[in-house]
Parts: sequence; C-alpha cells; structure tokens
Amino acid sequence: MEIRKGVAVSPGISIGKCLVIDAEDYRIPRRAIQPTQRLTETQRVRNAFKDAIEELEKLQAGQKELKVRDIFAVHLSFLKDRSLRKKITDMVHDESVTAEYAVSKTLRDIASHFATQKDGYIRERAADIYDIERRVLKYLVGEVEQEIRDLTEEVVIVARELSPTQTAGFNKEYVKGLASGAGGRTSHTAIVARSLGIPAVVALEDITESVTGGDTVIIDGNRGIVIVNPDDATIQQYLEYAVEFAEMEHRLDLIKEKPAETRDGVKVSLYGNIEFPDEAELVLKRGGEGIGLYRSEFLFLNRDTEPTEQEHYEAYARTVSFFKSKPVTIRTVDLGADKYTQARRYIREPNPFLGLRSIRYCLQNLTMFKAQLHAILRASVLGQVKVMFPLITNLQELMQAKMILGDVMEDLDDEGIKYNRNMEVGIMIETPAAALTASMLARDASFFSIGTNDLTQYTLAVDRGNELVSTLYSSVDPAVLRLIRTVIQDAYKARVDVTICGEMASEPEQVMLLLGLGIRKLSIASPMIPEIKQIVRSVTIEECNKVARKVLSMNSERQISSFLRDSARKILPEAF
Ligand code: PEP
Ligand code: MG
Repeated sequence: MEIRKGVAVSPGISIGKCLVIDAEDYRIPRRAIQPTQRLTETQRVRNAFKDAIEELEKLQAGQKELKVRDIFAVHLSFLKDRSLRKKITDMVHDESVTAEYAVSKTLRDIASHFATQKDGYIRERAADIYDIERRVLKYLVGEVEQEIRDLTEEVVIVARELSPTQTAGFNKEYVKGLASGAGGRTSHTAIVARSLGIPAVVALEDITESVTGGDTVIIDGNRGIVIVNPDDATIQQYLEYAVEFAEMEHRLDLIKEKPAETRDGVKVSLYGNIEFPDEAELVLKRGGEGIGLYRSEFLFLNRDTEPTEQEHYEAYARTVSFFKSKPVTIRTVDLGADKYTQARRYIREPNPFLGLRSIRYCLQNLTMFKAQLHAILRASVLGQVKVMFPLITNLQELMQAKMILGDVMEDLDDEGIKYNRNMEVGIMIETPAAALTASMLARDASFFSIGTNDLTQYTLAVDRGNELVSTLYSSVDPAVLRLIRTVIQDAYKARVDVTICGEMASEPEQVMLLLGLGIRKLSIASPMIPEIKQIVRSVTIEECNKVARKVLSMNSERQISSFLRDSARKILPEAF
C-alpha cells in the first residue's frame, strides 16, 4: 500500500482498478506486467512500429524537399530494422514490462549512446532517435486512449498529464476517478473533472511510477489523497467514508428549493458554469438560477473540424431551452493556452498563456468568430442570452469585438433573421490590465465577470496548471484581492453588474470574503452549488463585511487562508 498526497480538485471518493496513460513526450516509468500479458504487449510493439512506418512512408511520398525525404529515409531504416524491434520485444518478454517502457528505454539508450560519440554526424543522430521514439509512442498512447473511449467496465485513470480535451472525452459511466502527476486546482482539466462530477486529485508528481495497470487505487478527491494497492482495512474504511459523503451530498441537495439568501435577508444569485449543453440540466437540478459561464470553446475540442454555425446554434439553443427566461451567459471561444483544437494541437507557442489565446485568437480568425456570434444572436430570441468576451486586456479589443458583433447583427438584418438587438454584452476581467482599467471598460460593457483563475495566474505570474509552482498560486493573495476589490468598486460606481465566475466562487471557505467585498452573484461548478448555498444561508452580510475588512488588513496569503478557514468553520462546522 502506498499513500500519495496531491491537490484535491474534484470532490468525492472512488475505488477501482486503474488504467495508466503515459505521456508520449515525457519519461515513461518502468511498469511491470503479468506474464499472461506478454503476448499482447509484444503485439502492441509490432503494431505501433507498423503504424509508424506507414505514417512515415506517406509523409515521405508527399515530401518534395530532397533533404527532408533523406531524413525520413533514415528514420524508416531504423523503424524497419528487425533487430531493433526484436530487442524491444525481447525486453517486454524477458523483463515483463509494458510496451511503452520497452520502446522508450531501448530507443533512449541508443540515443544516449549516439550522443556521446566523437563523430559529429553520429552525435546528431540522437535527435533522430528521440523523434522516432515519439512517433512510435504516439501510437501506443493513442491505443490506450482508444481503449478508454471503448470502456465497458469501471476504472480510475492515472496519468502523468491529462489535457482538458482528453478529460472532457471521458465517459462518466465508466471513468470513476482521476489522478494525475501534473496540474493545478484551476487547470482546465480540474475544472472539467469537477463539472463532470468525477473525483480527482492532481499534482501527484511521479504517480505513474507507482502504479501498474490493473492495480487497485483509491482516489480521495476531498482530501487530495491517492492510495495505491490499499489493504483490506483501508478499503473498508473508505467504503464507509464514501457512504457518509454520499449522505452529506444528499442532505445538501434537499436545500435546492430554498432561496440563496443570507440570514439577514440579502439575496445572492447562484449560477452554474458549464462546458457542454448536457450539463445545463445538472445546474438546474442543483438549484442554479441560470448559466453564468458557458465555456463555449469545448465545442471545438474532441473533434477534427471547426463546428459549423448550425452546430453552434444547436448547442446554445439546447442550453437556453433548459433555462427559458433565466440568464445564459455564453462566453465566446477561449481557445489557446491549454485548450487547443485538434488542428492546432501541434503548433506550439513558446508561452501559450501569454500568446494567441482567447479574444486575441478570435480577432485574428474573423470567419470563425463571426460564425459563433451569428449563432449566439440567433439563439438570443429563445431566452435570456448574454454574450461575454474573454481575456480582454484593453478597451480597443472590446470595441473591436463589439464592432464585429455589430457587423454580424447587420448580416442578420440583411438575412431577415430575428435576434435580440438589446442582448447584454459583457466582458471577463481576467488580467491585471483589465482590472486596473475597469472604470474605462465599464463604459462599454453591460456587465463584468471576474475570472479569478486567470486573474490570479497573471497577477502572481504563476502558471495555473504547473504543479511545480502550485503553492504560489492563491486567489486570496493580497495582490489579487486588491484587484478584485478595485473591479467591484469601479463596477458599482458605473452601475455595471459584477459576477465572480472563477473557481474562487466554488470555494466554500472564500464565500464570506466575496460577499463582504460586495459580490452578490456567483457562478459555480454545478456540484458545488448546494454547498455554497448552504454557506450563504448560514451567514449575515454584517459578518461577511467584518471578514472582508479583516482580510484586507492582512498582508500575507497564509494568514488570510488560515483566517478564512477558521471563519468558515465557525459558521458551518459540518461542511468542513
Ligand atoms: C477564469 O479564468 O477564472 C475563468 C473562469 O475562465 P477559465 O477558467 O475558463 O480560463
Ligand atoms: Mg479564464
């Protein structure tokens, strides 16, 4: 039994057999297999080589550059070398290790050997071997991903790293838990796991080195613990804990019909965050009053082609039809950074979070942007649709986006299509630049939604998905809180509505602070709505104001976090 501590990102308990996904561009850990699996694994090696050869032959045939064709020829001669393949399959057989490990180990040994040679030409061949390794591993990893798509029994997934696209594609019926080496609490992978209601723990570093496919694994998404090969007593203890947790969730569900109102009668609006139209029903079920953040870019992930205008429209129409007159806030596509379309997957930018992402990407891809706006406008007559632009960093961007929206409105007029001419147009405040110029932006936005996930990342210069710096990432850092306060004050002066839609709004310990800072609208991951409502119903605004005043007088994140924890525990001990 091995107990590993990571970061809890999606609540719940799951116990199951694990399936391991390796990352093709990362060191593959040595993992043992059962003797009965040797035949399957050696066959996997042969298939992966066969697929890699076929791919390379096609690339070579289509290549006009003679030099590049020569490089492909060298790679092909390696891939076709029978002795190399035999060395790998022998290793799988003799040492009972996975196909991935045998391929990676053998090829990396050869590359290291080349890299130490005196002859410059041979030394340079090391890079070719790494390239060949990646090409073969791509097929082996892809095969596991296919296996996950075709699951027929429940598993928990353990991976070095999971992309939001992979996670969004998991079948909830069979994937019962996630554990990953990389990632942070507000990484999009964590956000998707939470929306899907799959217990998850991230930042487990080299967790994939501790497991073998088929091991029993417990994922404790409440405490951020993963237990590999637990003993019987631990399993029993966790089975009981899982029942207790389910009972608590059920009790919370009972407050669904009650208003989200503080003890002194102040109404707080609780909305849901969604990635897919299917989740809308869950938001309603949990007592959400509409959608505060629809991450529309998820329509682009998991597919090879761009969605058509009609596909956009159908997704929005479905969501709006659930809510009828309640608001549905559609954020225009926020692609880039860690959310790539299949087509852009291999076009890497040096600093993707500071690169061509979000509204910047839309403003450079007008046909795509206009198609989405056209669909949103068409859906605007079906209910209370609002549109929101992400990652605005200056007024020009907002004006440009609004001008394009105006152009699309004219197109609809010409086409004789009805839409809501007065649809509200808001922006996300996710950068320090936007927060500091909130008073200027307020003149051209009907509402603000503070994206605390990105705002924290950009204010503190900490990548939200990088586990190596996750201890530096905190939305209650004094710097972030000062920016949030500025935005709320400026929004209030300009009579612009302001919502918090980052993960901060889903943190039970931070709700009192947000209410004390003046927030009355929160948009939350749907599984968290009942718990947040319970907190709202347990406090008075006076108590929250006191908490906020005290927090703003503190100068360290640590002090603030521990004070917030204590305050929340005093108010509602059973929730913690
Ligand atoms: C945010 O940045 O806080 C936000 C809500 O947007 P996303 O998490 O999708 O980047
Ligand atoms: Mg964001």
